[in-house]
Amino acid sequence: MDTQPCQTRRGEYVTYCASGETCPDCNKPIKTLERVWRCTQQRPTGPARVVYRHYDDCRTI
Ligand SMILES: [Zn+2]
Repeated sequence: MDTQPCQTRRGEYVTYCASGETCPDCNKPIKTLERVWRCTQQRPTGPARVVYRHYDDCRTI
């Protein structure tokens, strides 16, 4: 399995969300086919988690 680290938000890219995802930055649901940042979050335990953030509102940390 190809797992790349993402500590510094590397590996992000812009995509279109499927459905049923919630943005972890603003805790609002992401609309179907809304443009989003896709990123994998490394966790201390367990596999990396894929998260989606709003492209316009949540692209900066
Ligand atoms: Zn958001």
